[in-house]
Amino acid sequence: MKFIGAHVSASGGVENAPINASKIGAKAFALFTKNQKQWFAKPLSTENIDGFKSNCEKLGYDPKYILPHDSYLINLGNPVPENLAKSRNAFLDEMQRCEQLGIKLLNFHPGAHLKQISEEECIERIAESINITLDKTKGVTAVIENTAGQGSAIGYKFEHLAAIIEMVEDKSRVGVCLDTCHTFTAGYDIKSEEGYKNTFEEFENIVGFQYLKGLHLNDSKKELASRVDRHDNIGLGLLGVEVFRRIMNDPRFDDMPIILETPNSDLWEEEIVMLYGFKSD
Ligand code: ZN
Ligand code: MN
Ligand code: MN
Repeated sequence: MKFIGAHVSASGGVENAPINASKIGAKAFALFTKNQKQWFAKPLSTENIDGFKSNCEKLGYDPKYILPHDSYLINLGNPVPENLAKSRNAFLDEMQRCEQLGIKLLNFHPGAHLKQISEEECIERIAESINITLDKTKGVTAVIENTAGQGSAIGYKFEHLAAIIEMVEDKSRVGVCLDTCHTFTAGYDIKSEEGYKNTFEEFENIVGFQYLKGLHLNDSKKELASRVDRHDNIGLGLLGVEVFRRIMNDPRFDDMPIILETPNSDLWEEEIVMLYGFKSD
């Protein structure tokens, strides 16, 4: 069974996210547990926490299908010690917010070397950041998202994800999330039938589907291997609908949050209906 939703607004409080998800017919959702453009946020209040939990229960959202995204400011591979420490503190805060909300997963972009250290050194820092955070928290899995490889971002190759996982001590609390737009613009041709088959075979061989905890479903405004991260609505970009039809009929993506991060949120409800319509059985 597929659990499709979108990255919904938590404006006015995290407790509003499940309500917003329910309004568009989502069976899963993503949210920011704090303002994603700021380093600091007020702690969650009892009202936020209780409201979130009771709304999830009322509206039928199992924590298994909630995939929050961390702040875009965080760089767990930052080459500058001071900035790395700041990112690690912020990431710990995000993990603790998930703990408080009873959320089991936290999606994040691995990090960027800012052209000051090698990719290998950056990968080591990222893994160390994850180890430090997992040590201080319980029950939340760190979910590394693959990237388009824009700028100096790590995570555009499955080998990067595998190398990070390899260095994480508690393998039971690390996973990955694949973003269809990022995968494509990073250079994996999931658009063609042959390319789709090869890409996910490669993913299985290098990372392994046992680590796949979620999917981000986005079409792409940019071409294959462009290394640029520009999402488009489903079927409106350069990926087209066929890859999404294949995903909907691929049991390897069953039973995990599948999240739309498409730019026009007015289309989410229709996109969810369209995606479920792709299922042939
Ligand atoms: Zn992301
Ligand atoms: Mn994404
Ligand atoms: Mn993106």
